[in-house]
Amino acid sequence: MTPNQKINSIVIVGGGTAGWLTAGIIAAEHNTNGTEINDLVDVQITLVESPDVPTIGVGEGTWPSMKSTLQKMGISETDLIQECDASFKQGTLFNGWKTGGNDAYTHPFTPPHSYASTNLAPQWQKFRNEVSFADAVSSQNALMFQGLAPKQISTPEYAFNANYGYHLDAGKFAELLRKHCVEKLGITHLKANVIAINSSTDGDIESLKTDTVGHIAGDLFVDCSGSKALLLGEHFDIPFCSKSQFLFNDTALASQVPYTNSDDPIASSTLSTAQTSGWIWDIGHVYSSAHTTEERASEELLAYIKTTVSAEAALSTSIRKVAFNPGHRAKFWHKNCVAVGMSAGFIEPLEASALVLVELSAAMIAEQLPANRQVMDLVAKRFNNKFLYRWDRIIDFLKLHYILSQRQDSDYWKDNSAASSVPESLSELVDLWRWQSPWHRDTGHIDEMFPSASFQYVLYGMGFVTQQSPLGSRTDRDAAKVAIKLFEENANITQRWLDILPSNRELIDKINTFGLQKI
Ligand SMILES: Cc1cc2nc3c(=O)[nH]c(=O)nc-3n(C[C@H](O)[C@H](O)[C@H](O)COP(=O)(O)OP(=O)(O)OC[C@H]3O[C@@H](n4cnc5c(N)ncnc54)[C@H](O)[C@@H]3O)c2cc1C
Repeated sequence: MTPNQKINSIVIVGGGTAGWLTAGIIAAEHNTNGTEINDLVDVQITLVESPDVPTIGVGEGTWPSMKSTLQKMGISETDLIQECDASFKQGTLFNGWKTGGNDAYTHPFTPPHSYASTNLAPQWQKFRNEVSFADAVSSQNALMFQGLAPKQISTPEYAFNANYGYHLDAGKFAELLRKHCVEKLGITHLKANVIAINSSTDGDIESLKTDTVGHIAGDLFVDCSGSKALLLGEHFDIPFCSKSQFLFNDTALASQVPYTNSDDPIASSTLSTAQTSGWIWDIGHVYSSAHTTEERASEELLAYIKTTVSAEAALSTSIRKVAFNPGHRAKFWHKNCVAVGMSAGFIEPLEASALVLVELSAAMIAEQLPANRQVMDLVAKRFNNKFLYRWDRIIDFLKLHYILSQRQDSDYWKDNSAASSVPESLSELVDLWRWQSPWHRDTGHIDEMFPSASFQYVLYGMGFVTQQSPLGSRTDRDAAKVAIKLFEENANITQRWLDILPSNRELIDKINTFGLQKI
């Protein structure tokens, strides 16, 4: 490409959730229907996917960001619930992570009450033996433990009382996105195998050779081909950085367990139950193959299904093994190719950070779509810096869950607490938080994926103690004056939501029958 050549044509390889979300997010930002609309950049998007290579296709949990992503693309929330077996997720409920016994705590999506201005954590420490941190500062904790919905049937699409994301069927979600992208957003969909990559003299990708639809030329190529990373990995040979020295899980046993009765409760959080060498969530067991065997991991999963669902469900469960190498590429945007989704990397399902990274990556590509080939290298550099930072923060936050555990009942938990397995950036923060509670100052960017509020929920949910200075800072003393009032306000809001919100099951059933009001 010549330096001044405009970027008009985007080719996406892969039709999993990453491919279709990326297509939809870029299309929602630009004009892709071939008509002139004001000064919107006119781009053409083509998505090619293999008819033979299946998508990863496990059930997925999303972050609240998915609401605005789908809304911007013009997808109806009622369609999402009805067509993707979707339900509302308000955060994660962790069982047995602290001691391996009956301990439980939540990481809700809503930050603590008045979090923008007041840090309630130091004030809560005085009452830590009477009330859990999440209960004291968040109304969502009670909703999650009671399986309540985050809104009512009269609440319009995407609006809420308590913030939420979704649990959904990944295959059905990709299909909903495909239909919308093709029918409403003007995206060209081709089914073919990419079998070779044609380069131009400057090393950029010029076109893709396919087995059935000829060559597909483009200006920018997005690699959404899954963990094989066909363009960025296989073609450009960008190294893969394994992070297994920090996070040991590398295998998942994914199961499909149907609800036994049509009126069984639907959890409003992801339930994550710690095991001897990993953890079990609603649809599977993720574990470290260096610490246990597949047989042992399946036994634990089936025992879990037997106790939480039924013996019949355990007998009829089919299990699919998915192996992965935790880590990410050394960079994500190289020449005129950018990787999004599993092709960029994957750590593990804890805290469900994969799809939100897809949303963030696609949003940055869409918002900063290079005007021409010359500026693309600058955008690529910024993209790489931003996402390398984000992967490091994800690793820190996920590892925090493991190092706070008191469990020492297996090598897995012992190895997880070894200092050599903890990133330095995380051990520094944890040392700091022994003396001061996490707060806005501790996270470097305004668009941080895990704000200090998330660290507070996990630290104090796991029983971490921050020693308070007897003198306190001026900010802490100011907060102390308003804390009791804020705790009371939170308790009142919680009671109000408990009085009016239906169960998650009741709301989902109603939406399936009547739909939600459009805004
Ligand atoms: C056990 C497990 C649990 C997970 N849980 C969560 C979760 O709770 N929340 C979350 O956000 N994420 C989760 N993830 C991650 C999430 O599943 C993925 O990030 C997401 O589905 C995106 O995958 P993808 O589209 O990148 O790749 P894939 O779904 O693998 O899609 C790859 C696409 O590339 C195509 N392709 C491959 N080769 C070629 C070729 N030669 N020519 C043309 N096309 C080709 C394939 O046909 C396919 O369409 C989980 C992952 C695993 C393994």
